[in-house]
Amino acid sequence: MNFASKMLIGGELVASESGALLDAENPATGEVVGKVPAGSAQDIERAVAAAKACFESGAWTKRAAHERAAAMWKLSNALEANIDSFAELDVIDNGMPMLFARGSINSAINGLRYYAGMCTKLYGKSTNIVAAGREFLTYTQPEPVGVVGAITPWNAPLATLVNKIAPAIAAGCPIVVKPAEQTSLSSLKFGELLTSSDLPPGLINIVTGLGADAGAALAQHPDVDKLTFTGSTVVGRSLVHAAAENFKRLTLELGGKSPVFVFDDADLERTIPQVAMAIFANSGQVCFAGSRLYVQRKLFPQLIERVAAFAKTMRLGDGLDPQTQLGPVVSRKQMDRVLGYIERGIAEGAELLCGGKQHGERGYFVEPTVFANPEGSDITIAREEIFGPVLTAMPFEDLDEVAQLANASPYGLGSGVFTTNVTTAHAAARKIRSGNVWVNCYGILDKAVPFGGFKQSGWGREHGFEGIEAFLETKSVFTPLS
Ligand code: NAD
Repeated sequence: MNFASKMLIGGELVASESGALLDAENPATGEVVGKVPAGSAQDIERAVAAAKACFESGAWTKRAAHERAAAMWKLSNALEANIDSFAELDVIDNGMPMLFARGSINSAINGLRYYAGMCTKLYGKSTNIVAAGREFLTYTQPEPVGVVGAITPWNAPLATLVNKIAPAIAAGCPIVVKPAEQTSLSSLKFGELLTSSDLPPGLINIVTGLGADAGAALAQHPDVDKLTFTGSTVVGRSLVHAAAENFKRLTLELGGKSPVFVFDDADLERTIPQVAMAIFANSGQVCFAGSRLYVQRKLFPQLIERVAAFAKTMRLGDGLDPQTQLGPVVSRKQMDRVLGYIERGIAEGAELLCGGKQHGERGYFVEPTVFANPEGSDITIAREEIFGPVLTAMPFEDLDEVAQLANASPYGLGSGVFTTNVTTAHAAARKIRSGNVWVNCYGILDKAVPFGGFKQSGWGREHGFEGIEAFLETKSVFTPLS
Protein backbone atom coordinates (compact mmCIF):
# COMPACT_ATOMS: atom_id res chain seq x y z
CA MET A 1 0.00 0.00 0.00
CA ASN A 2 1.27 3.48 -0.88
CA PHE A 3 0.89 6.05 1.85
CA ALA A 4 0.96 9.84 1.63
CA SER A 5 4.29 10.84 3.07
CA LYS A 6 4.47 14.63 2.81
CA MET A 7 3.38 17.33 5.24
CA LEU A 8 1.23 20.27 4.13
CA ILE A 9 2.74 23.73 4.65
CA GLY A 10 1.51 26.85 2.89
CA GLY A 11 -0.45 24.77 0.37
CA GLU A 12 2.61 22.69 -0.65
CA LEU A 13 3.28 19.04 0.11
CA VAL A 14 6.76 19.02 1.65
CA ALA A 15 9.28 16.79 3.42
CA SER A 16 10.61 17.85 6.82
CA GLU A 17 13.56 20.26 6.71
CA SER A 18 15.81 17.66 8.30
CA GLY A 19 14.57 14.83 6.08
CA ALA A 20 14.18 12.69 9.23
CA LEU A 21 11.42 10.07 9.29
CA LEU A 22 9.42 8.17 11.91
CA ASP A 23 8.08 4.61 11.60
CA ALA A 24 4.38 4.02 11.07
CA GLU A 25 3.55 0.71 12.73
CA ASN A 26 0.49 -1.52 12.39
CA PRO A 27 -0.37 -2.55 15.98
CA ALA A 28 -2.28 -5.62 14.77
CA THR A 29 0.97 -7.12 13.46
CA GLY A 30 3.75 -5.06 15.00
CA GLU A 31 5.10 -4.44 11.49
CA VAL A 32 6.44 -1.13 10.20
CA VAL A 33 4.17 -0.30 7.26
CA GLY A 34 5.47 3.11 6.24
CA LYS A 35 7.39 6.24 7.18
CA VAL A 36 6.16 9.70 8.15
CA PRO A 37 8.12 12.96 8.31
CA ALA A 38 9.64 13.80 11.69
CA GLY A 39 8.82 17.48 11.62
CA SER A 40 10.73 19.73 13.99
CA ALA A 41 10.80 23.32 15.24
CA GLN A 42 12.00 24.50 11.79
CA ASP A 43 8.95 22.99 10.09
CA ILE A 44 6.66 24.49 12.72
CA GLU A 45 8.30 27.84 12.02
CA ARG A 46 7.44 27.57 8.32
CA ALA A 47 3.90 26.39 9.02
CA VAL A 48 3.14 29.14 11.54
CA ALA A 49 4.55 31.73 9.11
CA ALA A 50 2.25 30.37 6.36
CA ALA A 51 -0.76 30.48 8.69
CA LYS A 52 0.09 34.02 9.80
CA ALA A 53 0.46 35.17 6.18
CA CYS A 54 -2.93 33.64 5.36
CA PHE A 55 -4.48 35.42 8.36
CA GLU A 56 -2.97 38.79 7.53
CA SER A 57 -3.81 38.62 3.81
CA GLY A 58 -7.50 37.94 4.53
CA ALA A 59 -7.35 35.30 1.77
CA TRP A 60 -10.01 33.35 3.65
CA THR A 61 -11.95 35.89 5.70
CA LYS A 62 -12.49 38.32 2.82
CA ARG A 63 -14.45 35.66 0.94
CA ALA A 64 -18.24 35.75 1.31
CA ALA A 65 -19.43 33.59 4.18
CA HIS A 66 -21.50 31.39 1.86
CA GLU A 67 -18.41 30.77 -0.29
CA ARG A 68 -16.44 29.70 2.77
CA ALA A 69 -19.30 27.41 3.78
CA ALA A 70 -19.40 25.92 0.26
CA ALA A 71 -15.64 25.26 0.32
CA MET A 72 -15.94 23.43 3.65
CA TRP A 73 -18.92 21.44 2.41
CA LYS A 74 -17.02 20.52 -0.77
CA LEU A 75 -14.13 19.27 1.38
CA SER A 76 -16.57 17.13 3.40
CA ASN A 77 -17.84 15.61 0.13
CA ALA A 78 -14.28 14.78 -0.95
CA LEU A 79 -13.70 13.09 2.41
CA GLU A 80 -16.95 11.17 2.08
CA ALA A 81 -16.02 9.99 -1.42
CA ASN A 82 -12.85 8.49 0.10
CA ILE A 83 -14.30 7.32 3.40
CA ASP A 84 -13.12 3.73 3.09
CA SER A 85 -9.53 4.56 2.29
CA PHE A 86 -9.34 7.06 5.16
CA ALA A 87 -10.95 4.53 7.52
CA GLU A 88 -8.51 1.86 6.38
CA LEU A 89 -5.56 4.11 7.26
CA ASP A 90 -6.87 4.64 10.79
CA VAL A 91 -7.35 0.86 11.12
CA ILE A 92 -3.79 0.13 9.93
CA ASP A 93 -2.24 2.86 12.09
CA ASN A 94 -4.36 2.64 15.24
CA GLY A 95 -5.76 -0.92 15.17
CA MET A 96 -9.42 0.07 15.57
CA PRO A 97 -12.12 -2.13 13.93
CA MET A 98 -13.26 -0.95 10.49
CA LEU A 99 -16.79 -0.20 11.70
CA PHE A 100 -15.44 2.10 14.41
CA ALA A 101 -13.04 3.71 11.90
CA ARG A 102 -15.86 4.45 9.44
CA GLY A 103 -17.88 5.99 12.29
CA SER A 104 -14.87 8.08 13.19
CA ILE A 105 -14.39 9.41 9.62
CA ASN A 106 -18.13 10.07 9.45
CA SER A 107 -17.78 12.20 12.54
CA ALA A 108 -15.08 14.22 10.72
CA ILE A 109 -17.40 14.67 7.72
CA ASN A 110 -20.24 15.77 10.01
CA GLY A 111 -17.93 18.21 11.78
CA LEU A 112 -17.02 19.92 8.51
CA ARG A 113 -20.70 20.15 7.56
CA TYR A 114 -21.91 21.36 10.96
CA TYR A 115 -19.31 24.13 11.12
CA ALA A 116 -19.71 24.98 7.40
CA GLY A 117 -23.20 26.09 8.43
CA MET A 118 -21.75 28.35 11.12
CA CYS A 119 -19.81 30.46 8.57
CA THR A 120 -23.06 32.23 7.67
CA LYS A 121 -24.35 32.48 11.24
CA LEU A 122 -21.80 34.48 13.21
CA TYR A 123 -23.45 37.67 14.44
CA GLY A 124 -22.70 40.33 16.99
CA LYS A 125 -25.21 42.16 19.20
CA SER A 126 -26.21 45.77 19.28
CA THR A 127 -27.47 48.11 21.99
CA ASN A 128 -27.69 51.86 22.50
CA ILE A 129 -26.20 53.26 25.69
CA VAL A 130 -26.00 56.67 27.35
CA ALA A 131 -22.66 57.75 28.79
CA ALA A 132 -21.75 61.24 30.08
CA GLY A 133 -25.05 62.55 28.74
CA ARG A 134 -24.49 61.33 25.16
CA GLU A 135 -26.19 58.52 23.35
CA PHE A 136 -23.99 55.89 21.73
CA LEU A 137 -24.69 53.11 19.30
CA THR A 138 -22.69 50.07 20.36
CA TYR A 139 -22.27 46.75 18.67
CA THR A 140 -20.16 43.65 19.10
CA GLN A 141 -18.41 41.71 16.39
CA PRO A 142 -17.15 38.13 16.64
CA GLU A 143 -13.64 38.07 15.16
CA PRO A 144 -11.20 35.20 14.64
CA VAL A 145 -8.80 34.76 17.54
CA GLY A 146 -5.82 34.48 15.14
CA VAL A 147 -3.42 31.67 14.30
CA VAL A 148 -4.38 28.37 15.95
CA GLY A 149 -2.08 25.52 16.95
CA ALA A 150 -3.74 22.12 17.38
CA ILE A 151 -2.19 18.99 18.89
CA THR A 152 -4.06 15.68 18.73
CA PRO A 153 -3.79 12.13 20.17
CA TRP A 154 -3.81 8.71 18.50
CA ASN A 155 -7.10 7.20 19.57
CA ALA A 156 -9.38 8.69 16.87
CA PRO A 157 -6.78 10.16 14.52
CA LEU A 158 -8.60 11.89 11.66
CA ALA A 159 -11.79 12.63 13.61
CA THR A 160 -9.90 14.54 16.30
CA LEU A 161 -7.83 16.42 13.73
CA VAL A 162 -10.88 17.58 11.77
CA ASN A 163 -12.71 18.31 15.02
CA LYS A 164 -10.13 21.04 15.60
CA ILE A 165 -9.88 22.22 11.99
CA ALA A 166 -13.61 22.67 11.27
CA PRO A 167 -14.56 25.19 13.99
CA ALA A 168 -11.22 27.01 13.66
CA ILE A 169 -11.58 27.73 9.93
CA ALA A 170 -15.32 28.44 10.24
CA ALA A 171 -14.34 31.12 12.76
CA GLY A 172 -11.80 32.49 10.23
CA CYS A 173 -8.64 31.16 11.89
CA PRO A 174 -5.74 29.56 9.98
CA ILE A 175 -4.47 26.48 11.77
CA VAL A 176 -1.33 24.40 12.19
CA VAL A 177 -2.06 20.84 13.33
CA LYS A 178 0.39 18.37 14.82
CA PRO A 179 -1.15 14.87 14.82
CA ALA A 180 0.03 12.09 17.15
CA GLU A 181 3.27 10.49 16.00
CA GLN A 182 1.77 6.98 16.35
CA THR A 183 -1.07 7.66 13.89
CA SER A 184 -0.18 10.25 11.24
CA LEU A 185 -1.10 8.37 8.05
CA SER A 186 -4.69 9.61 7.69
CA SER A 187 -3.63 13.19 8.52
CA LEU A 188 -1.02 13.14 5.73
CA LYS A 189 -3.60 11.80 3.28
CA PHE A 190 -5.97 14.55 4.40
CA GLY A 191 -3.18 17.02 3.55
CA GLU A 192 -3.10 15.59 0.02
CA LEU A 193 -6.87 15.98 -0.25
CA LEU A 194 -6.56 19.62 0.81
CA THR A 195 -4.33 20.45 -2.15
CA SER A 196 -7.32 19.99 -4.47
CA SER A 197 -9.76 21.84 -2.18
CA ASP A 198 -11.04 25.41 -2.52
CA LEU A 199 -9.29 26.51 0.68
CA PRO A 200 -6.48 29.09 0.38
CA PRO A 201 -2.84 28.05 0.94
CA GLY A 202 -1.77 28.36 4.56
CA LEU A 203 -5.29 28.06 5.99
CA ILE A 204 -4.65 24.47 7.08
CA ASN A 205 -1.10 23.26 7.69
CA ILE A 206 -0.22 19.74 8.83
CA VAL A 207 3.14 19.05 10.49
CA THR A 208 3.84 15.52 11.74
CA GLY A 209 6.51 14.71 14.32
CA LEU A 210 7.20 13.98 17.95
CA GLY A 211 5.37 15.75 20.76
CA ALA A 212 8.50 16.88 22.56
CA ASP A 213 9.83 18.28 19.29
CA ALA A 214 7.22 19.61 16.81
CA GLY A 215 4.44 19.62 19.46
CA ALA A 216 6.42 21.63 22.00
CA ALA A 217 7.62 24.08 19.29
CA LEU A 218 4.02 24.72 18.24
CA ALA A 219 2.87 25.16 21.85
CA GLN A 220 5.61 27.69 22.53
CA HIS A 221 5.45 29.66 19.30
CA PRO A 222 4.88 33.39 19.95
CA ASP A 223 2.81 33.84 16.75
CA VAL A 224 0.29 31.19 17.80
CA ASP A 225 -2.68 32.96 19.40
CA LYS A 226 -4.64 29.91 20.49
CA LEU A 227 -3.87 26.30 21.30
CA THR A 228 -6.39 23.50 21.16
CA PHE A 229 -5.26 20.16 22.54
CA THR A 230 -6.63 16.68 23.03
CA GLY A 231 -4.44 14.29 24.95
CA SER A 232 -3.14 13.41 28.37
CA THR A 233 -3.48 15.52 31.49
CA VAL A 234 0.31 15.56 31.90
CA VAL A 235 0.94 17.10 28.46
CA GLY A 236 -2.09 19.39 28.93
CA ARG A 237 -0.42 20.80 32.03
CA SER A 238 2.79 21.50 30.09
CA LEU A 239 0.74 23.42 27.51
CA VAL A 240 -0.69 25.65 30.23
CA HIS A 241 2.89 26.68 31.01
CA ALA A 242 3.76 27.12 27.31
CA ALA A 243 0.66 29.25 26.78
CA ALA A 244 1.53 31.58 29.65
CA GLU A 245 4.31 33.34 27.75
CA ASN A 246 2.04 35.18 25.28
CA PHE A 247 -1.29 34.33 26.97
CA LYS A 248 -2.46 31.98 24.25
CA ARG A 249 -6.11 31.07 24.52
CA LEU A 250 -6.35 27.42 25.45
CA THR A 251 -8.86 24.62 25.00
CA LEU A 252 -7.96 21.32 26.63
CA GLU A 253 -9.70 17.96 26.17
CA LEU A 254 -7.90 15.67 28.60
CA GLY A 255 -8.23 12.32 30.33
CA GLY A 256 -10.93 10.66 32.40
CA LYS A 257 -11.91 7.88 34.80
CA SER A 258 -15.58 7.93 34.00
CA PRO A 259 -18.09 6.27 36.38
CA VAL A 260 -21.14 4.29 35.24
CA PHE A 261 -23.95 3.64 37.75
CA VAL A 262 -26.36 0.72 37.32
CA PHE A 263 -29.40 0.85 39.63
CA ASP A 264 -31.20 -2.37 40.48
CA ASP A 265 -34.29 -1.33 38.49
CA ALA A 266 -32.27 -1.06 35.22
CA ASP A 267 -33.38 -2.89 32.09
CA LEU A 268 -30.59 -5.48 32.12
CA GLU A 269 -30.95 -6.75 28.56
CA ARG A 270 -30.22 -3.25 27.28
CA THR A 271 -27.83 -2.24 30.03
CA ILE A 272 -25.28 -5.07 29.91
CA PRO A 273 -24.01 -4.63 26.33
CA GLN A 274 -23.91 -0.85 26.79
CA VAL A 275 -21.99 -1.04 30.04
CA ALA A 276 -19.54 -3.47 28.42
CA MET A 277 -19.06 -1.36 25.28
CA ALA A 278 -18.70 1.78 27.42
CA ILE A 279 -15.28 0.39 28.37
CA PHE A 280 -14.36 -2.00 25.56
CA ALA A 281 -15.09 0.18 22.50
CA ASN A 282 -11.80 0.97 20.72
CA SER A 283 -10.11 -1.33 23.26
CA GLY A 284 -10.72 1.15 26.05
CA GLN A 285 -8.76 3.89 24.26
CA VAL A 286 -11.53 6.44 24.55
CA CYS A 287 -11.14 9.48 26.78
CA PHE A 288 -14.66 9.06 28.22
CA ALA A 289 -14.43 5.23 28.53
CA GLY A 290 -16.69 4.05 31.36
CA SER A 291 -13.86 2.43 33.32
CA ARG A 292 -15.43 2.56 36.82
CA LEU A 293 -18.61 0.49 37.05
CA TYR A 294 -20.80 0.98 40.16
CA VAL A 295 -23.63 -1.54 40.57
CA GLN A 296 -26.35 -1.31 43.22
CA ARG A 297 -25.41 -3.92 45.82
CA LYS A 298 -28.26 -6.45 45.34
CA LEU A 299 -27.58 -6.58 41.60
CA PHE A 300 -23.78 -6.60 41.88
CA PRO A 301 -22.99 -10.38 41.65
CA GLN A 302 -25.40 -11.01 38.76
CA LEU A 303 -24.44 -7.93 36.75
CA ILE A 304 -20.67 -8.33 36.93
CA GLU A 305 -20.97 -11.99 35.97
CA ARG A 306 -23.01 -11.05 32.90
CA VAL A 307 -20.65 -8.23 31.87
CA ALA A 308 -17.71 -10.66 32.18
CA ALA A 309 -19.66 -13.23 30.10
CA PHE A 310 -20.22 -10.56 27.43
CA ALA A 311 -16.49 -9.70 27.45
CA LYS A 312 -15.57 -13.37 26.93
CA THR A 313 -17.63 -13.49 23.71
CA MET A 314 -15.81 -10.57 22.10
CA ARG A 315 -13.79 -11.34 18.96
CA LEU A 316 -10.31 -9.86 18.96
CA GLY A 317 -8.48 -9.47 15.68
CA ASP A 318 -7.19 -7.30 12.91
CA GLY A 319 -9.50 -4.32 12.45
CA LEU A 320 -9.65 -4.98 8.70
CA ASP A 321 -11.43 -8.31 9.37
CA PRO A 322 -15.18 -7.50 9.39
CA GLN A 323 -15.74 -10.04 12.22
CA THR A 324 -13.43 -8.14 14.58
CA GLN A 325 -15.05 -6.43 17.56
CA LEU A 326 -11.87 -5.50 19.45
CA GLY A 327 -8.59 -4.49 17.86
CA PRO A 328 -5.18 -4.19 19.51
CA VAL A 329 -4.08 -1.25 21.62
CA VAL A 330 -1.99 1.26 19.71
CA SER A 331 1.59 0.21 20.54
CA ARG A 332 3.79 -2.14 22.51
CA LYS A 333 4.35 0.67 25.01
CA GLN A 334 0.59 1.04 25.54
CA MET A 335 0.12 -2.74 25.82
CA ASP A 336 2.86 -2.99 28.43
CA ARG A 337 1.29 -0.09 30.32
CA VAL A 338 -2.16 -1.73 30.34
CA LEU A 339 -0.74 -5.15 31.35
CA GLY A 340 1.20 -3.39 34.10
CA TYR A 341 -2.05 -1.95 35.48
CA ILE A 342 -3.65 -5.43 35.34
CA GLU A 343 -0.76 -6.89 37.38
CA ARG A 344 -1.14 -4.07 39.84
CA GLY A 345 -4.89 -4.74 40.16
CA ILE A 346 -4.18 -8.39 41.01
CA ALA A 347 -1.41 -7.42 43.44
CA GLU A 348 -3.68 -4.92 45.22
CA GLY A 349 -6.36 -7.57 45.78
CA ALA A 350 -8.93 -7.03 43.01
CA GLU A 351 -10.73 -10.18 41.82
CA LEU A 352 -10.04 -10.97 38.15
CA LEU A 353 -13.30 -12.13 36.52
CA CYS A 354 -12.05 -12.44 32.94
CA GLY A 355 -9.21 -11.47 30.63
CA GLY A 356 -6.01 -10.17 32.13
CA LYS A 357 -3.53 -11.29 29.51
CA GLN A 358 -2.04 -10.44 26.15
CA HIS A 359 -4.01 -12.12 23.36
CA GLY A 360 -2.15 -14.01 20.64
CA GLU A 361 1.52 -13.78 19.76
CA ARG A 362 1.47 -11.09 17.10
CA GLY A 363 0.54 -7.47 17.62
CA TYR A 364 -0.54 -5.65 20.76
CA PHE A 365 -3.83 -7.26 21.79
CA VAL A 366 -5.07 -7.17 25.39
CA GLU A 367 -7.98 -9.39 26.43
CA PRO A 368 -11.08 -7.53 27.59
CA THR A 369 -10.62 -7.58 31.34
CA VAL A 370 -13.13 -7.25 34.18
CA PHE A 371 -12.11 -6.85 37.82
CA ALA A 372 -14.41 -6.90 40.83
CA ASN A 373 -13.50 -4.71 43.76
CA PRO A 374 -16.33 -5.68 46.13
CA GLU A 375 -15.00 -3.71 49.10
CA GLY A 376 -14.66 -0.58 46.98
CA SER A 377 -11.00 -0.33 48.05
CA ASP A 378 -8.95 2.63 46.91
CA ILE A 379 -6.87 0.55 44.47
CA THR A 380 -4.87 2.01 41.59
CA ILE A 381 -6.99 0.50 38.80
CA ALA A 382 -10.11 2.12 40.28
CA ARG A 383 -8.41 5.50 40.39
CA GLU A 384 -6.04 6.01 37.48
CA GLU A 385 -6.80 6.27 33.77
CA ILE A 386 -5.59 3.04 32.11
CA PHE A 387 -6.66 3.77 28.51
CA GLY A 388 -7.11 0.07 27.79
CA PRO A 389 -9.87 -2.58 27.94
CA VAL A 390 -9.92 -2.86 31.73
CA LEU A 391 -13.08 -2.43 33.82
CA THR A 392 -13.21 -2.21 37.61
CA ALA A 393 -16.63 -2.97 39.14
CA MET A 394 -17.71 -1.90 42.62
CA PRO A 395 -21.01 -2.05 44.54
CA PHE A 396 -22.92 1.02 45.77
CA GLU A 397 -25.87 1.38 48.12
CA ASP A 398 -28.23 4.06 46.84
CA LEU A 399 -28.70 7.46 45.20
CA ASP A 400 -27.19 9.20 48.27
CA GLU A 401 -23.85 7.58 47.55
CA VAL A 402 -23.65 8.61 43.88
CA ALA A 403 -22.12 12.07 44.34
CA GLN A 404 -19.42 10.91 46.74
CA LEU A 405 -18.36 7.96 44.56
CA ALA A 406 -18.62 9.67 41.18
CA ASN A 407 -16.86 12.81 42.25
CA ALA A 408 -14.01 11.18 44.22
CA SER A 409 -11.81 11.57 41.14
CA PRO A 410 -9.72 14.43 39.83
CA TYR A 411 -11.43 13.85 36.46
CA GLY A 412 -14.94 14.75 35.30
CA LEU A 413 -15.39 13.90 31.63
CA GLY A 414 -18.12 11.28 31.13
CA SER A 415 -20.57 9.33 33.27
CA GLY A 416 -23.44 6.90 32.81
CA VAL A 417 -26.66 6.22 34.71
CA PHE A 418 -28.77 3.14 34.02
CA THR A 419 -32.21 3.07 35.66
CA THR A 420 -35.86 2.89 34.62
CA ASN A 421 -36.84 5.50 37.24
CA VAL A 422 -36.89 8.96 35.68
CA THR A 423 -36.43 10.73 39.03
CA THR A 424 -33.40 8.60 39.87
CA ALA A 425 -31.98 9.34 36.42
CA HIS A 426 -32.24 13.12 36.73
CA ALA A 427 -31.24 13.20 40.41
CA ALA A 428 -28.10 11.16 39.66
CA ALA A 429 -27.27 13.31 36.59
CA ARG A 430 -27.56 16.40 38.80
CA LYS A 431 -25.13 15.04 41.40
CA ILE A 432 -22.33 13.96 39.08
CA ARG A 433 -19.67 16.54 38.28
CA SER A 434 -18.84 15.63 34.68
CA GLY A 435 -19.15 17.37 31.34
CA ASN A 436 -21.32 14.62 29.87
CA VAL A 437 -23.93 12.38 31.50
CA TRP A 438 -25.45 9.56 29.45
CA VAL A 439 -28.72 8.12 30.75
CA ASN A 440 -29.57 4.57 29.60
CA CYS A 441 -26.99 4.97 26.83
CA TYR A 442 -23.28 5.69 26.65
CA GLY A 443 -20.90 7.67 24.49
CA ILE A 444 -23.47 9.31 22.21
CA LEU A 445 -21.87 12.38 20.62
CA ASP A 446 -23.12 14.91 18.10
CA LYS A 447 -21.55 18.04 16.64
CA ALA A 448 -24.55 20.06 17.85
CA VAL A 449 -24.00 19.18 21.52
CA PRO A 450 -21.07 20.55 23.56
CA PHE A 451 -18.45 18.05 24.73
CA GLY A 452 -15.75 18.55 27.32
CA GLY A 453 -14.72 18.01 30.90
CA PHE A 454 -15.06 19.31 34.44
CA LYS A 455 -12.04 19.45 36.75
CA GLN A 456 -8.80 17.91 35.41
CA SER A 457 -10.58 16.58 32.31
CA GLY A 458 -10.07 19.88 30.58
CA TRP A 459 -10.85 23.50 29.84
CA GLY A 460 -13.63 24.62 27.54
CA ARG A 461 -15.95 22.74 25.22
CA GLU A 462 -15.84 21.40 21.68
CA HIS A 463 -18.86 20.97 19.37
CA GLY A 464 -21.92 23.22 19.21
CA PHE A 465 -21.83 27.02 19.54
CA GLU A 466 -19.42 26.68 22.46
CA GLY A 467 -17.04 24.90 20.09
CA ILE A 468 -16.76 27.84 17.71
CA GLU A 469 -16.79 30.50 20.42
CA ALA A 470 -13.46 29.09 21.56
CA PHE A 471 -11.96 30.42 18.30
CA LEU A 472 -13.52 33.89 18.48
CA GLU A 473 -12.78 37.17 20.19
CA THR A 474 -15.54 39.68 20.86
CA LYS A 475 -14.88 43.24 19.74
CA SER A 476 -17.12 46.03 21.12
CA VAL A 477 -17.52 49.20 19.01
CA PHE A 478 -18.84 52.52 20.45
CA THR A 479 -20.12 55.38 18.22
CA PRO A 480 -21.69 58.60 19.59
CA LEU A 481 -24.98 59.50 17.92
CA SER A 482 -24.56 63.23 18.47
P1 NAD B 1 -0.37 12.54 24.87
O1 NAD B 1 -0.76 13.69 25.70
O2 NAD B 1 0.87 11.81 25.21
O3 NAD B 1 -0.20 12.98 23.34
C1 NAD B 1 -1.15 13.76 22.70
C2 NAD B 1 -0.47 14.68 21.70
O4 NAD B 1 0.39 15.55 22.41
C3 NAD B 1 0.39 13.95 20.66
O5 NAD B 1 0.26 14.60 19.41
C4 NAD B 1 1.79 14.16 21.20
O6 NAD B 1 2.79 14.14 20.20
C5 NAD B 1 1.67 15.54 21.80
N1 NAD B 1 2.69 15.85 22.82
C6 NAD B 1 3.34 14.98 23.65
N2 NAD B 1 4.21 15.66 24.41
C7 NAD B 1 4.12 16.97 24.07
C8 NAD B 1 4.75 18.15 24.52
N3 NAD B 1 5.68 18.13 25.48
N4 NAD B 1 4.40 19.34 23.96
C9 NAD B 1 3.45 19.39 23.00
N5 NAD B 1 2.82 18.29 22.52
C10 NAD B 1 3.14 17.09 23.06
O7 NAD B 1 -1.64 11.61 24.87
P2 NAD B 1 -1.82 10.24 24.12
O8 NAD B 1 -1.13 9.18 24.90
O9 NAD B 1 -1.46 10.40 22.71
O10 NAD B 1 -3.42 10.08 24.22
C11 NAD B 1 -4.04 9.54 25.31
C12 NAD B 1 -4.61 10.60 26.24
O11 NAD B 1 -5.46 11.50 25.53
C13 NAD B 1 -5.48 9.99 27.29
O12 NAD B 1 -5.17 10.57 28.53
C14 NAD B 1 -6.89 10.35 26.89
O13 NAD B 1 -7.82 10.40 27.90
C15 NAD B 1 -6.69 11.66 26.23
N6 NAD B 1 -7.77 11.94 25.27
C16 NAD B 1 -8.71 12.87 25.60
C17 NAD B 1 -9.78 13.13 24.76
C18 NAD B 1 -10.83 14.17 25.12
O14 NAD B 1 -11.56 14.60 24.24
N7 NAD B 1 -10.95 14.58 26.36
C19 NAD B 1 -9.88 12.45 23.55
C20 NAD B 1 -8.90 11.52 23.22
C21 NAD B 1 -7.83 11.28 24.10
